[in-house]
Amino acid sequence: MAITIALAGNPNCGKTTLFNAMTGSNQFVGNWPGVTVEKKEGKLKGHKDVRIMDLPGVYSLSPYTLEEVVTRNYLISERPDVILNIVDGTNIERNLYLTTQLMELGIPVVMAVNMMDLVAKNGDRLHINQLSKKLGCPVVEISALKGTGIKEAADLVVATANSKDKMLPVHKFGNELEAILNKVESKLGAEVKEEQKRFFAIKLLESDEKLPELLEYVPDITKEIEEIEEQLDDDAESIVTNERYQYISSIIKSCYEKKERTNNQTLSDKIDKIVTNRILALPIFAAIMFLVYYVSVTTVGTWATDWANDGVFGEGWSLFGLDIPGIPVLVENLLTSIGCADWLQSLILDGIIGGVGAVLGFVPQMMILFIFLAFLEACGYMARVAFIMDRVFRKFGLSGKSFIPMLIGSGCGVPGIMASRTIESDRDRKMTIMTTTFIPCGAKLPIIALIAGALFDGAWWVAPSAYFVGIAAVVCSGIILKKTKLFAGDVAPFVMELPAYHMPTITNVMRSMWERASSFVKKAGTIILLSTIVIWFLQNFGFTSGSFAMVEDMNDSLLAAIGGVIAPIFAPLGWGNWKFASAAITGLIAKENVVGTFGVLYGFGEVAEDGVEIWGSLASSVSATAAYSFLVFNLLCAPCFAAMGAIKREMNNTKWFLIAIGYQTGLAYVVSLVIYQVGTVFASRNVSIGTVTTALVVIAAVSGIIATMARDRKAGKSIQCGCDCKDCGGGCH
Ligand code: GDP
Ligand code: MG
Repeated sequence: MAITIALAGNPNCGKTTLFNAMTGSNQFVGNWPGVTVEKKEGKLKGHKDVRIMDLPGVYSLSPYTLEEVVTRNYLISERPDVILNIVDGTNIERNLYLTTQLMELGIPVVMAVNMMDLVAKNGDRLHINQLSKKLGCPVVEISALKGTGIKEAADLVVATANSKDKMLPVHKFGNELEAILNKVESKLGAEVKEEQKRFFAIKLLESDEKLPELLEYVPDITKEIEEIEEQLDDDAESIVTNERYQYISSIIKSCYEKKERTNNQTLSDKIDKIVTNRILALPIFAAIMFLVYYVSVTTVGTWATDWANDGVFGEGWSLFGLDIPGIPVLVENLLTSIGCADWLQSLILDGIIGGVGAVLGFVPQMMILFIFLAFLEACGYMARVAFIMDRVFRKFGLSGKSFIPMLIGSGCGVPGIMASRTIESDRDRKMTIMTTTFIPCGAKLPIIALIAGALFDGAWWVAPSAYFVGIAAVVCSGIILKKTKLFAGDVAPFVMELPAYHMPTITNVMRSMWERASSFVKKAGTIILLSTIVIWFLQNFGFTSGSFAMVEDMNDSLLAAIGGVIAPIFAPLGWGNWKFASAAITGLIAKENVVGTFGVLYGFGEVAEDGVEIWGSLASSVSATAAYSFLVFNLLCAPCFAAMGAIKREMNNTKWFLIAIGYQTGLAYVVSLVIYQVGTVFASRNVSIGTVTTALVVIAAVSGIIATMARDRKAGKSIQCGCDCKDCGGGCH
């Protein structure tokens, strides 16, 4: 008989490690329908008919985060045969909170206490027989990392699933609460199965907002809530939470023996004392990030990208003195030798290989970066980064974890966007995906150099100002988006766990790197391929002397025609000129194309990276303000196809993808408009109606932002950490 096992546990409890150990390579990675949460499924080694689901890591089954919703919806509606609850043995008290909730679902539970190697090392002891008796479910000790106890756990789970009289774990609350629960259970409709009644009754008492999505009939239990609140003098939700903790501490007392520690500090605590130290935290963080960045973006990374772009997808490269031609060279020779038509040759070489190659060229660099990220994530340092940066980032509606994607995004937006996967909260992740590409990436640097050189005499401030515009766009977007309906609603209660430091395994790090890299390569094969073909077509075809054909001169191409049609849209930004519009379009393939396109359009053919040849022509066609507005537009608007592909992939939802691209382009338009209009006034001291309107809009927007920030501060919403929890009043870190 087919059996389904669900792995449930807190983030970082070792679920994925156990999942990998239990399934080996027999696994499929996907997404839960319509959301960005990763879904992993596999078959238990040696059992063809035992399916294992790796559920998202959660601290509780409340409906605050997307992960919690995904996990609980799965458990409630799919009803796996057994829940394998993984508990971090070094953190058992906190982990049991989720356990108490899993036990209410009416599904058999097997508990695997993980990290027993660390527990033993700390000198602590766990009495599992006692624990099993108290919880009413089987318990095994395992170490997913060292591979001990995994076979026993698997056998136990299969045996539990196959046993006839299923033992359901139940824990009892205090008498008053149990009495009320009984009353609430009797009010539930017939749709609720007997074994699920307890779960729904408790959720009703907790005033769970998402119940209407799960139940057709939600009974009114105001009276019961009033009764228990009166009896125990607290609000119903807190009563349930308190009783859970009381229950947990009664278990811990009798089952867990903590070794007396001389200074009560584990190695992790000692490391954290330095790493998250008030003064040292930032310098250490900066040093680590510098190292990661230095290796994966500049030194080894540059070498890898050059090898891929100029070697494999370029002229060729050499290995031990052996010259290996690049793919374009090979293909060109092949196509010429078989006498392939010119247009087809151009499509394959310039269109497909040129376009997709430009994107795939980033893959080696990304793989290096992903290895670092996977390592930092698995060893537990990423959680500390979030902790360190959170104070700053919370202020404008982003999470501390947004910092890493943005830092990486300054090299290339694609891995930056993909790095946002480490952010658990869906809301924070979406926000990060939408704003990461505002930070100028490496490919935007040539545009900056071009504009600075052509119109500002190479002034020193142009490049830093581009970064400043990027950072300001991120900050303002955070503040603005937070106020929209899309990102409104309860900010998830801020739960931050600092897992103990671990030495990650090579297989886990490599696997995580490979998952990310391969999903990017897949993207290059679809959306990016299609887009490059379309642009190639637009660039190379057009109407010449009355007929539609391939054109020699890009001036006659469809791209130029489209540039001409859309140019008026950009007139208010100061560059309503078809050459500029066309350059912005080709920038969608890769931002460095902008400079190249200007080269072609101004009749210079190939130009240097900073386009020094065309500085004169550019300077004579637009004003400095207009050029700066063009620069800003290209910095902020929809990124290149590769990055758009990454956004689509990470959003996993077309609507959100369009929202992101639309927002970026809209913001780019508005900011460039403001820059041009205001800049023109300063330059010419000439006030037009357009300028006045723009000025009014800007004043309104800025004062709106300031007012909302002030209101938040006044309302006592913790600006510090975004946390509204009662215990800390916002000062938990
Ligand atoms: P998940 O978030 O629950 O999927 O947790 P992971 O499987 O990614 O594990 C988090 C970290 O704990 C990784 O660095 C693992 O190598 C480490 N880890 C997992 N199981 C054990 C274990 O039994 N002992 C030790 N020492 N480390 C473990
Ligand atoms: Mg995991």
